Formats: sequence, C-alpha cells, structure tokens
Amino acid sequence: MRNRKRIINPGDQFGKLTVLEPAGDNSWLCQCECGKKKELSFRSLVYQNVRSCGCLRGRKEKLVIEPGMRFGMLTIVEKGERINRNLVWICKCDCGKVKEIYQSNLQNGKTRSCGCSQYIRPVLSEEEKAAKRRKARRALGLPEED
Ligand SMILES: [Zn+2]
Ligand SMILES: [Zn+2]
Repeated sequence: MRNRKRIINPGDQFGKLTVLEPAGDNSWLCQCECGKKKELSFRSLVYQNVRSCGCLRGRKEKLVIEPGMRFGMLTIVEKGERINRNLVWICKCDCGKVKEIYQSNLQNGKTRSCGCSQYIRPVLSEEEKAAKRRKARRALGLPEED
C-alpha cells in the first residue's frame, strides 16, 4: 500500500529527539539530546522534519576563552573548576586581585573587572589625545594643526 501512515513508537529517534510517550491526539512527548522535553505532533516529526527541541536551530557560536585573553580589566590566567555546572576561569584584574569568574559572565560581557570598578576605557593624557588627533587628521588628508 502506498502512502501508508507512518506509525511512531516510543523509543523512535528523530535526529536529536527520542520519542518517550504519546501526549494526546497525534502528538508525542519527545526528549531532546540537550535534555529538554518537548511535545511534537506527528506532522512536525514526520512531515516537517523537526529534529530537535529547537536547540539545533539558532545555536550560536560561543566565544572560546583561552588563557591570556583580556576582558576589560581582566586577564584570563587559567581554567578553574566547575561551580554548579558553570565553568569558572581564574582571572587577574589590572588592580592585582585574582578572582574566579563564571565563563558565561565573561562571554556575555557582564563581568569586566574583579569588582573593584566598572570597566572604564583607558584615560588618555592630553599628549596622547593630541597624537591621536594628528593621526586621524593625517588619515583624512587634513592639514596639521599647530
Ligand atoms: Zn534540544
Ligand atoms: Zn580589580
């Protein structure tokens, strides 16, 4: 027989999804590899090729953190231990303090110092400012200012 309806059984795999149990009319409770559970209809699984809870789509490239990298006033020293499943990095602040910072806080830009100060852009001296101005003017082809 052609066009035979595909039957879904608990335990079936659809990409990252494993079918757990029926969840009402024509939908199924599925478990994604990422740990999330989601109810999906027969249509979604069979015809729309849904293959994850949604984590497959829109998965962002996370910033890779390595020792030596700078985040504001912080320099990454080394990898720390996991705290509550969050990776922690040992960071040295410009003020000299060493602190453990959650990787997620570094990645999303939340933490940029040991807490000693909000990260402020380095203050330039008048001389440095003038040098910057001269450089910018040269780049634009403008006459030197005196
Ligand atoms: Zn998922
Ligand atoms: Zn500090």
